[in-house]
Amino acid sequence: MPASNVSSSLPERTRTRLQGGVTHVADRDPLTVRSPFTGEEMGTVPACQPADVTEAVRTAQAAQSDWSERPIEERAAVLQRFADEVLDHREELLDIVQLEAGKARLDAHVELLDIVLNADYYAREGPNHVAPTRRDGGFPLLTKAVEHHDPVGVVGLIEPWNYPLTLAISDMLPALLAGNGAVLKPAEATPFCALRAVELLVDAGAPEDLVQVVTGHGATLGEPLISSVDYVTFTGSTETGRTVASLAGEHLVDASMELGGKNAAVVLDDADLSQAVTGTVHGSYANAGQLCISFERIFVHEAVYDQFVDRFVDATETLDLGASLKFGPDVGSLIGQHQLDTVEDHVADARERGATVETGGRRREEVGPLFYEPTVLTDLPDDATAACEETFGPVVSITPVADADEAVARANDTDYGLHASVWTEDTDRGEALARRIEAGSVCVNDAYLGMWASTDAPMGGVGDSGIGRRHGPHGIQKYTESQTVTTQRLHPLVPVEGLPNRVAAAGATLSIRALRRLRRLSPLDGR
Ligand code: NAD
Repeated sequence: MPASNVSSSLPERTRTRLQGGVTHVADRDPLTVRSPFTGEEMGTVPACQPADVTEAVRTAQAAQSDWSERPIEERAAVLQRFADEVLDHREELLDIVQLEAGKARLDAHVELLDIVLNADYYAREGPNHVAPTRRDGGFPLLTKAVEHHDPVGVVGLIEPWNYPLTLAISDMLPALLAGNGAVLKPAEATPFCALRAVELLVDAGAPEDLVQVVTGHGATLGEPLISSVDYVTFTGSTETGRTVASLAGEHLVDASMELGGKNAAVVLDDADLSQAVTGTVHGSYANAGQLCISFERIFVHEAVYDQFVDRFVDATETLDLGASLKFGPDVGSLIGQHQLDTVEDHVADARERGATVETGGRRREEVGPLFYEPTVLTDLPDDATAACEETFGPVVSITPVADADEAVARANDTDYGLHASVWTEDTDRGEALARRIEAGSVCVNDAYLGMWASTDAPMGGVGDSGIGRRHGPHGIQKYTESQTVTTQRLHPLVPVEGLPNRVAAAGATLSIRALRRLRRLSPLDGR
């Protein structure tokens, strides 16, 4: 469908209402939001200033103390109601995500389900992850040790545009469940998704002031936000992540960094090629390749390489590009001119260095101003930009390898370490190979969705792909300060009065020796 058939603007009433959700203490310059489908203006939001961040943090702090006093079951019920609200407003949310991010409806739908899965998981399991927990005391029977988790206070979230709904909210839900407030700084390009999601949170029962949204430029708002919150969740590029991490270090604030990737898929000689092709095509072009865990490099055993390339190119050519608010097109638009420039630069550099463009490699302006064809590169030299740097677009290279060892070596030949996949009929072999790939997550015989939906298992990156993890126990415990309370029975652990220090030290050594022996015999429970 041609882009011009899509109405890009939000209804006036919706725009005005959503703009009202931005915290600002004075009139601010407008920041224009454009729909990538058409380039037309969707609306404006205030370009907030540091004083607005100060007010947002103060307001969230004030609401947070009451919220943290509520029983955790009540907070969990808000998350469950929020999941219901998201499902009940499915069509409207999909429209906003698509208009703002220019993605295909199926890609927008993944965002919705991710929020529901996270809300449901943390509502069910989160209370256990932060419940007071008995720990082995230093001295069995004498020392009782309990670990408690308290909310850190206010969490600052700085988020990107590529998954503007889920990234604004899914990482915030465990923070709220743990009893925190939040200040959210969405990407410049996608504030309306975040604002609508926060409205739904309030409809679900979150206190009105608990979550504050500041819109505007990261370079203006980053420092004031990082310096005044109690934890920073950052998702975005590695380059900005370095700035955010150094600011967090300067202000001694704990932080997690979900950054970029140069993800590899490895196709072994015994792979089911139909599944491998379908899976890697989806994993390369989901969200037009603007997905942190999408594949940009595929290494294929030479025995099946030619066949794989032929089938991969055929499958790529069946993908339908389009700007439509219906579940039709497979691949949507790029987000902005900067992203299109990066994609064009990487492909031009690949061509200059002798790579073959098997399919794609061109803009599709007749579909929309920022559309680019899904592109397959072969014979890509190792030093080409597309081989080393994150493209973050619909471009993937396919390279033959002699065996599994070479595939692993090439997959690991990057500073990034976010995600990978292995394709083989022998799942034991696949799992063993996965353990040799230096990445925070690896799928065997799947692109990424099985891993992403496994909300009980940690997800994150190694190397330049990040610090910290989302999902699972870690995904909520990071938003807490732990406190250990030990209670000593019978007698405090101090030298006995009148006993020479030498004798006290010898007695303590004897006790530790005995304790070690005992603990080796049966893992001791000192509770
Ligand atoms: P970006 O780093 O340009 O921007 C991310 C956020 O940081 C935006 O809200 C931006 O306003 C803000 N920001 C910019 N400068 C800042 C500063 N000096 N201080 C504080 N905040 C600042 O990233 P992007 O282009 O929006 O997103 C694409 C990148 O995000 C890709 O590299 C992608 O791989 C990565 N990403 C990673 C994950 C993950 O989970 N690992 C998920 C999605 C996207």
